[in-house]
Amino acid sequence: MSDSKQPIRDTEEFRDHISTVTEDGKRIFVYPKKQKGKMYWMRTVVAVLLLIAFLVGPFIKVDGRPLMLFNVLKGDFIILGVPFVTQDTFLFAVTMITSLVIIVLFTAVFGRLFCGWVCPQTIFMEHVFRRIEYAIEGDANKSRRLDKGPWTKEKIWKKGLKWTIFYIISFVIALYFLSYVIGVDSVKAFITSPVGENIGGFIGLFVFSFAFFMVFANIRDQVCTTICPYGRLQGVLLDKNSILVSYDFERGEPRGKAKKKKKKTKVETMVASSDVGVAAVQFEGDKEGDCVDCDLCVKVCPTGIDIRNGTQLECINCTLCMDACDSIMEKVKRPKGLIRYASYNSIVEHKPNQVFTTRSIAYSLVMVALLGFLGFLVAGRSTVKAYMTKARGVVYMEVDATHGKNLYNLKLTNKTRKELPVEVKLLNKKGKLEFIGLGDHLVVPPIGTKGGRLEGSVFIILDKKDIDGRVTDLELGVFLEGKQIETIETSFIGPQ
Ligand code: SF4
Ligand code: SF4
Repeated sequence: MSDSKQPIRDTEEFRDHISTVTEDGKRIFVYPKKQKGKMYWMRTVVAVLLLIAFLVGPFIKVDGRPLMLFNVLKGDFIILGVPFVTQDTFLFAVTMITSLVIIVLFTAVFGRLFCGWVCPQTIFMEHVFRRIEYAIEGDANKSRRLDKGPWTKEKIWKKGLKWTIFYIISFVIALYFLSYVIGVDSVKAFITSPVGENIGGFIGLFVFSFAFFMVFANIRDQVCTTICPYGRLQGVLLDKNSILVSYDFERGEPRGKAKKKKKKTKVETMVASSDVGVAAVQFEGDKEGDCVDCDLCVKVCPTGIDIRNGTQLECINCTLCMDACDSIMEKVKRPKGLIRYASYNSIVEHKPNQVFTTRSIAYSLVMVALLGFLGFLVAGRSTVKAYMTKARGVVYMEVDATHGKNLYNLKLTNKTRKELPVEVKLLNKKGKLEFIGLGDHLVVPPIGTKGGRLEGSVFIILDKKDIDGRVTDLELGVFLEGKQIETIETSFIGPQ
């Protein structure tokens, strides 16, 4: 830290309250000022691509089935065309753990990058609903005035139009989310069916639409600042090397109105970040900073915070304050980037951001290992899962003088969308299988038909010479087109 900026006392007062709640607990509604700039346009491009993917997604099919499906009710999941069934629990668990590690890694290195750039809440709020609001009500001041003003004809018309459009879009979003759960064909059938036949479903749809409507029309920033658990995780994931939207207090302080900047100033300003380990501090300075204290970075913030106070849980890294400050720096002819993607260490040490730290390398190694393991599991995932258990209450039976048999339950689960004719054979013993009620040819139905399962009973008949006393270990193979795709291990119980 430069000598001219010595901390004179710690202050964390701004952390004692949420910027959008008054001391007596009332909500302060945020009216962010419209802001454009380089970062905003980059985020718009990302948002448009994601919105297209979201809107087109349910209509893309692979072999007649959706590209993505998360039918939790039926345990039917399809990710990028690959179907997963409830038997893939282990794979699912590894996928979840890998995703968690990726989130932790990205958050440790880049903070809430996800929130600002790809979170559906931010995408819909900032790139859909907020734009409509600006178009109907105007920029922040006009919108605030309209809200505070009486219910004139203009207010009724504007609010009515805005809320109607908001509700229609919320309804469409609810339909799309439903399409990702039950499939677009089921949604089409559902919404074209008479209301009386699906009264519960229609009520559910309207309730969900209303929930979305409330989120985007009213709750808004509160989702990010108080409801979303991911934001709360920041405190434990970030460190001084995390690259976040940050105010360069070394360059910006002491702040002051542009015209007063000729004078030597003695200022007290809150800076820096909390742990990130460092409490917000105040500085005494004798050198002019670049911040002209215009407050534009605060006015554009959708969560209503002042980024100059340092890293805060409420910051969703939306970059609007970066664009705002850059526009001011351009006007006052100072270098851009007073608010930029920077780590605390890069600011105090006047060094470039450091992506490769011991922590990020360690997380990356774990992530690569998990991704490798996941790839191995997916590549080695058999198309048919087989379970064989000895039938309860049925003991060893003599077939003839030289053979004995045991009864087993057999369950074969198909993980594909095709019918699979399979064979089951004994591998480590000579013997015979007698299927009961399954026909001579085993055909496992595809996912979506009969639950994708073939279930029945089978006698395993062994030559007495092959029975090793009381318990004989057996290995069976499931074959598809002559290729072994699954192994079953079980035991043959011999005579007492
Ligand atoms: S502080 Fe800046 S980046 Fe953070 S939420 Fe506010 S405007 Fe967005
Ligand atoms: S926009 Fe930039 S110059 Fe204006 S108050 Fe914020 S940090 Fe200071």
